[in-house]
Amino acid sequence: MIIVQFITIVGSNFAILCYRSVKATVLSNELIIVASETVNFDSELPHYKTEGGVYRDPTDDGRIYSPTIMWVEALELLLEKLKPKINFSKVVAVSGSGQQHGSVYWKKGSQAVLSSLDPGKSLVSQLKDAFSTMDSPIWMDSSTTKQCREVENAVGGALELSKLTGSRAYERFTGPQIRKIYQTAPHIYENTERISLVSSFMASILVGCYASIDETDGAGMNLMDINKRTWSKAVLEATAPDLEQKLGNLAPACAAAGRISSYFVERHQFDKNCFVIQWSGDNPNSLAGLTLNTPGDLAISLGTSDTVFGITAEAKPSLEGHVFPNPVEPDGYMVMLCYKNGSLTREDVRNQCAEKSWDIFNNYLEKTPPLNGGRLGFYYKDHEILPPLPVGFHRYIVENFSDASSDNLKECEVQEFDPESEVRAIVEGQMLSMRGHAERFGMPNPPKRIIATGGASSNESILKLIAQIFGCPVFTVERPDSASLGAALRAAHGWLCKEEGGFVPISRMYTGNLEKTSLGAKLAVPAPGDEGRELLKKYTVLMKKRMEIERRLVEKIGRA
Ligand code: ADP
Repeated sequence: MIIVQFITIVGSNFAILCYRSVKATVLSNELIIVASETVNFDSELPHYKTEGGVYRDPTDDGRIYSPTIMWVEALELLLEKLKPKINFSKVVAVSGSGQQHGSVYWKKGSQAVLSSLDPGKSLVSQLKDAFSTMDSPIWMDSSTTKQCREVENAVGGALELSKLTGSRAYERFTGPQIRKIYQTAPHIYENTERISLVSSFMASILVGCYASIDETDGAGMNLMDINKRTWSKAVLEATAPDLEQKLGNLAPACAAAGRISSYFVERHQFDKNCFVIQWSGDNPNSLAGLTLNTPGDLAISLGTSDTVFGITAEAKPSLEGHVFPNPVEPDGYMVMLCYKNGSLTREDVRNQCAEKSWDIFNNYLEKTPPLNGGRLGFYYKDHEILPPLPVGFHRYIVENFSDASSDNLKECEVQEFDPESEVRAIVEGQMLSMRGHAERFGMPNPPKRIIATGGASSNESILKLIAQIFGCPVFTVERPDSASLGAALRAAHGWLCKEEGGFVPISRMYTGNLEKTSLGAKLAVPAPGDEGRELLKKYTVLMKKRMEIERRLVEKIGRA
């Protein structure tokens, strides 16, 4: 039997959380995980003195960054730790997942350094002077509000920017980060030959020349035209001068960045024909790892914060959420919604109303009726991103809900609900908001299926409610590292496309066999039957009412 292995190296565990480590996952040709390894930045590379893998600048409010060279050292250490476990010469393709939005600034002349690395020396010793700044801005940074507004204004407003690039300007997005460097440290900008994302940075090291930016990860920059998948001239001009040449080309996620460089062949005994497939961002890789692949697939991650992502055929960018190209298909899009008030806010209500117990919380969910007698709650323990509302709880009762039609429903505001209703109101409210916003983004109703992940996906009562509100089956996966697994799968997919000389749907790799691979998901709640479909119609009415109240709240007290 030929052992074909796909390796992936990622900078995190799941989704948009802290970036504390680099992780490798090795898949066999049967798509089974055969090895994995992790390097924790704080504990294994303590000389960088990072906390959670990052630095916080005490002199610049909201500035959060990581030392670029630490990621290089982590890659070297990771390969050393992996060496006893796998035979690198059997690896046919490598890909990876870099934290989305983070950026790296290569100094003028570094292309030459990158393409002539000496396998007798470490990467760190040869790349330590290759950057025009040693600091990589990362996704946690929130210090570029001024630049965000400047870029939005220059192209005709936030909505225009979103229509152009898939998102309005966000502080963490790379374009505003680049503009800040251009404005506050022009010498660094001037001395920069190439700007990489974390993903294309790692791919560049592996191929020994500057790798293109993957189109999906590129959509997290506020620089790429989301429809044409080329750099948008208007936004480039609004961001910084001569930017296009510093960014290089874009490439689809399934393309090969190149063959692995001779450095890794000689130093680590990789096969010289091993392909490096474009690296992508953590959210796109999670989408691949959860096996979302066709329009109508939706994933809901119920972690500290909640994230919803899915696949749509069309891009319908708006002022909220994000549209990226689909990382596993050349056509189509991935949409993503991020909520700040996820598990921690559910936990807060649990502590106030259900004696700090998930069992009691679930008992309340089970004993209250679906639709909660028209009770709608908005719970923002932290300033919310979606919708942009400040801290506060708002409660309403929709009057005559059970026999009213959707057009003439009136609500009255109330100060409190009884504890049982409060518990149902927070979960129903969060799921109705997810459904409303996902549909606004073009997600079909009902979705084909939902895959739930994150801490709260272990809660069957919550999963049951998701199935009722969305009207589709809910599956769960029990792995915390979908991004890493997804990148390994994409490595295999890119390799297959290369072998077949053209694009091959990623599902061909596992359809009919999913349960035997490391990618399998378990059916947790089946699709609703006839009774459930009637209930779904009522939830649709309640969802519309909720969206209407939400719009009015945003008009009245929304954050700019
Ligand atoms: P992170 O986003 O930090 O990776 P997790 O995905 O591990 O976090 O989710 C952690 C959250 O899961 C906790 O904040 C907790 O509130 C929530 N959680 C854990 N168990 C349950 C449960 N049975 N029901 C609802 N929420 C739960």
